Amino acid sequence: MIILGMERNMKKKVSDIDMKRRFQEVLKHIYCMHCKKTVPLADYDAWIDQGGVVLKGKCGLCGGEVSRFIEPE
Ligand SMILES: [Zn+2]
Repeated sequence: MIILGMERNMKKKVSDIDMKRRFQEVLKHIYCMHCKKTVPLADYDAWIDQGGVVLKGKCGLCGGEVSRFIEPE
């Protein structure tokens, strides 16, 4: 289930359980610019933006910041 915020400026957070189910593959294979390859995502945060989902977290290998925008289906 997607949690929608009422405030315009509030980040519309996506629940953790929903995230893991919908973006299982993305969470395991996100591209890290520092490692120059796909890595597992650690300590991520996700919210709704422009109809899609913004994923932001840390690279599971180097700890660098990684982010990805997932287009709406
Ligand atoms: Zn990395």
